[in-house]
Amino acid sequence: MDLNTDIRYVKGVGDVMKSRFHRLGIDTVEALLYYFPRDYEDWSAPIPITDAVPGETCCVRGTVISRPVQVPTRTALVVKAMISDGRGLMQLVYFGNKYIVRQLPEGETFLFYGKVTADEYSGERQMLSPRMMRAGAGERLHPIYRQTEGLTSKKIEQTVEYALSALRGSFAETLPEYLLRKHGLMGLEEALRSIHLPRDRAEIARARDRLVFEELLDLQLAMMLLKTRGRGETALRLERDRTAEFLAKLPFTLTGAQRRCIDEAMADLRCGSPMNRLVQGDVGSGKTAVAAALIYSAVKAGWQCAMMAPTELLAQQHYETMTKLFGEEIPTGLVTGSTPKAKRRLLTAALADGSLPFAVGTHALLSEDVQFANLGLVVTDEQHRFGVRQRTALAAKGATPHTLVMSATPIPRTLGLIIYGDLDVSIIDELPAGRKPVETYAVTTDYHDRIYKYIKKFLDAGRQAYVVCPLVEESEESDLIPAEDYYEYLRDEVFDGYRVGLLHGKMKPKDKAAVMEDFVSGRTQLLVSTVVIEVGIDVPNATVMVIENAERFGLSQLHQLRGRIGRGAHASVCILISDAGNDEALQRLRLLTKTNDGFVVAQEDLKMRGPGDFLGARQHGLPELRIANIVTDTKQVYAAREQAQNILLADPDLSLPEHRSLAEAMRRMYAQFAGAGIN
Ligand code: ADP
Ligand code: MG
Repeated sequence: MDLNTDIRYVKGVGDVMKSRFHRLGIDTVEALLYYFPRDYEDWSAPIPITDAVPGETCCVRGTVISRPVQVPTRTALVVKAMISDGRGLMQLVYFGNKYIVRQLPEGETFLFYGKVTADEYSGERQMLSPRMMRAGAGERLHPIYRQTEGLTSKKIEQTVEYALSALRGSFAETLPEYLLRKHGLMGLEEALRSIHLPRDRAEIARARDRLVFEELLDLQLAMMLLKTRGRGETALRLERDRTAEFLAKLPFTLTGAQRRCIDEAMADLRCGSPMNRLVQGDVGSGKTAVAAALIYSAVKAGWQCAMMAPTELLAQQHYETMTKLFGEEIPTGLVTGSTPKAKRRLLTAALADGSLPFAVGTHALLSEDVQFANLGLVVTDEQHRFGVRQRTALAAKGATPHTLVMSATPIPRTLGLIIYGDLDVSIIDELPAGRKPVETYAVTTDYHDRIYKYIKKFLDAGRQAYVVCPLVEESEESDLIPAEDYYEYLRDEVFDGYRVGLLHGKMKPKDKAAVMEDFVSGRTQLLVSTVVIEVGIDVPNATVMVIENAERFGLSQLHQLRGRIGRGAHASVCILISDAGNDEALQRLRLLTKTNDGFVVAQEDLKMRGPGDFLGARQHGLPELRIANIVTDTKQVYAAREQAQNILLADPDLSLPEHRSLAEAMRRMYAQFAGAGIN
């Protein structure tokens, strides 16, 4: 047996159990051993029954003195038994468990773990459905695993035990010996044994230290390797900063923060080694103009530039913004999945021979057929929507181009370190002057009529509005408002005489673009839409947004959506509609009515959803962490980061024999990235 062995061959598993393990994502021995306990129960020191306090959870040792008997009740199967530890008595009560009768023979001694209660009539001590183990074998800490139907935590524990003993002595150590010594870490086998079957709490802590360190080290090595390709090399050096020339074309003056970002990036472009910079700024802070300024100077210097956006709508919009801004001066091409073949051939030919200096597009820019003659600057917008690999894949199309990534999603610092590594960060912490904060309200559907009247007032005054729904079509499982039906209702009944449009993700790109065009030009006044408008869409004349079933969206997502309004000089209003009466949902929505600060929203989102969701693989394109917690394991993040830097300094491509296991870990990590759809 080795780590790759099918879980089916572990003692006690077989085909039925195999499918249950599969439900937990466990198909191999390795997956089993890396399925870490979510908690532990202390069975090591059973207390005397007479010390068991009602209301508390504890472990007692007792001999069955009256065997389990079924108690007649009308509704449920109830089984009761009595145990004694020689001084005190405790009644055990089980519901709906007919097997327990066989499991508790009279005269035998067991450990019982559960919550103590007092019988409501006699006051006798009771335990309701306690978990049990044979006495003499079970007195230790026990792991608690997330379980699934037909597969209990106890069964998982037992299977882990079998697997560990079958593998004893045959584990290949995955960290170099010198690192174990330097950081005082347990070996792999000991760490895995201790995390599952610890002798005491201190052992869990030491096992965890080792596993967390390794996980973070692997992750950071992978990130650094991905992006240090080309570091230390030379990049095109910008001779002239033409920002002043560019500013003359802008219809507005930049904010101080935008200026500072441009200056910081300019300094990178002029220094001769590749820029690696993140521009972070809340929705509406004007990141596009920052990118445009850099692109202008770069193209004027004879470089080619590429700008990648996560959706076709956004790519289209950037294309229009840029062509309007640059006019004839900088020929610009748009490359997306729906660019017609013939057109695409022309574009790719022009990019390849260098005659087209600038391409805006989606991930279509990453395809094989898109090649550049002299790619000098790569910009990725809404970078959190892309995987790590996608970002680097675009840069790989140039020798060592400068890269600028832009994001509105503030992330915890430790996570930033991991994702961006040694990326430099510029922050736009100022909104363009004259912006009024979006006033936000949270109401129930009782307010619909009033809200419709309110919207009409805005439309009559020449403004435009969004109505956002979570779903496109009607669905049997849910009572959410579907966008299509709602659109017809609003168009025909409520907003009769107004011009209403519909936009959703299932439409063809061409139709989407046409609908957007109508809205941008003001031909439609009210746009009923799904979240396809979430990122980047910029129509300053739209000043009202109504979000139906608001409880269905995450806070950060609502904030992004709300960022579509409040973009011009007019006051804007966002109305969140929800009938979810529960406190948690309302509390979430209320937060948005109190703040417009994306950072506050993100922090709160992180707090409410927990790091698991917030940092879910989809958010940032990283594999899910199995044991490390980026929010709480701050010290280890820094330690692993420093170690990763040292390793790569000494052995940039992990070719030394002592790094063979790390190189292997990197291969597996990249396979995981690929599995998560990141390349
Ligand atoms: P985001 O940072 O969310 O990408 P955008 O770049 O889309 O924001 O800018 C939002 C809107 O603000 C756009 O309509 C843009 O033209 C406008 N804008 C950007 N910078 C300024 C500025 N300094 N003054 C006035 N309007 C600005
Ligand atoms: Mg943007």
